[in-house]
Amino acid sequence: MIEILKTIFFRFTRLRSLRARLFVIIFLVGFVPSVIMRYAILESYEDRAVDVRSSDVQNQLKIIANHLIASNYLKDNSSAVINAELEQLSNLYDGRVLIINSALQVVKDTYTIGEGRIIISEEVIKCLKGTSVANYDSDNRYIEMTTPIVELVSENNATPEMPAGTQITHGVMLTSVSTESISATMEILSQKSFIVEVLLLFFLFALALISANLLVIPFGRVTKAISQVKEGFTDEPITVADYLETEHILDAFNQLLYRMKVLDDSRNDFVSNVSHELKTPITSIKVLAESLLNQNDAPAELYREFMLDIAAEIEREDKIINDLLSLVKMDKTAAKMDVTVVDINALTEIILKRLRPIARKRDVELVLESKREVLAEVDEVKLSLILSNLIENAIKYNKEQGTVTVTVDADYQFFSVEVSDLGTGIPEEALEQIYERFYRVDKSHSREIGGTGLGLSIAKNAVLLHKGTIKAISVEGEGTTFTVRIPLNYRAK
Ligand code: ADP
Repeated sequence: MIEILKTIFFRFTRLRSLRARLFVIIFLVGFVPSVIMRYAILESYEDRAVDVRSSDVQNQLKIIANHLIASNYLKDNSSAVINAELEQLSNLYDGRVLIINSALQVVKDTYTIGEGRIIISEEVIKCLKGTSVANYDSDNRYIEMTTPIVELVSENNATPEMPAGTQITHGVMLTSVSTESISATMEILSQKSFIVEVLLLFFLFALALISANLLVIPFGRVTKAISQVKEGFTDEPITVADYLETEHILDAFNQLLYRMKVLDDSRNDFVSNVSHELKTPITSIKVLAESLLNQNDAPAELYREFMLDIAAEIEREDKIINDLLSLVKMDKTAAKMDVTVVDINALTEIILKRLRPIARKRDVELVLESKREVLAEVDEVKLSLILSNLIENAIKYNKEQGTVTVTVDADYQFFSVEVSDLGTGIPEEALEQIYERFYRVDKSHSREIGGTGLGLSIAKNAVLLHKGTIKAISVEGEGTTFTVRIPLNYRAK
């Protein structure tokens, strides 16, 4: 049911507009109370007027009832004075009075038609027993009431059974009076209030329309300001301070703008770095090729030497492109993790075996210290990238005849791989930057030994994909230790 209402609601796009909602709210808040008030006032006027009329008539009836007793009217209804009184009362209130004795017989009817008849009505019987009632019939517009005709036993007539002050009900006056005049007044009041209401309706319509339009103006300003940014007229932070709400929206928007700017800047940096890095080997190749071409009779050895250089540059270009591809694949949002349970010691062993020839060339010893057996949920390819990049760096930046120690350990939640070397070390101020793409402490040295400046970025991204951490401690001239900590259970929250 709610779903259906929601669909209907969303189909009428106008109802989703804040302006339309404000209009409806302001209009209803003004109009509904005024309608309720009109009905409440009319109702209470009617009640009050009927009450006043009933008590007026009741008072007069009580006086007449006393006269009836005094002149013994229930036995003899010929008293001209009382008849005149009754006539006057019924004329005054446009009503009818029936005087009924205790035998339920009508003694007097101001309409005369009922005289002599017996009336068996609940109200009359109740009244004879002492309970008088007044009923208002709003549909037929009259009030019907009963008044007891009571005699008070005086001192002179008192008997032991009936002491002085006892009330004896001898009969009942059954009276109905018209409320036509009340209804007429109600009609006039109702018409007048209806006119006021219609005027109020127009006034509220205009008020709601104007206020709703005024209240949404700041949102229009927000849209305009955002459009200006969208269309590129400005990229300065924007403010529309009319409402706290607009301020909050624009704060969030400005933060987004700032983030986009940072991303844009870093993308531009990256593109210019990539172009530069890719251009360097190509420039070398071009220079080598041109110098060969310029020599008409270059000896075959020179060709061979230059060709070896060209091949080395091509290999370098290939390495940069491969590293860039690994980096793109490792992009946090795009990367897919292929998680399996891996024996970390065994994997480290395989990587060390693969890197041993390079280490041997530099006379560097590789040592594996396994503190315990470690089985962890990891993406094997990505973890291999982390370990080989770290160990390769430890070999590359090591001193001659140095050692690289790889320590594998674990606690109940994480496993750690520590890669220590005895190399050049990293200056304190560079420790934060080494993970940036293309950052190298010593650019020319790194290039000489075949570095691309991408290895640690790749390693860091892969560690983050494993929800792990990487940190480096280094003492210049003494060596560096990289520690990677990764959760044993990838899927555990
Ligand atoms: P590269 O391909 O140049 O090695 P990396 O991203 O792997 O690029 O490393 C970035 C820089 O951090 C390196 O150029 C080097 O200056 C420094 N670095 C990385 N590992 C070590 C290490 N074990 N010892 C000393 N310096 C290191």
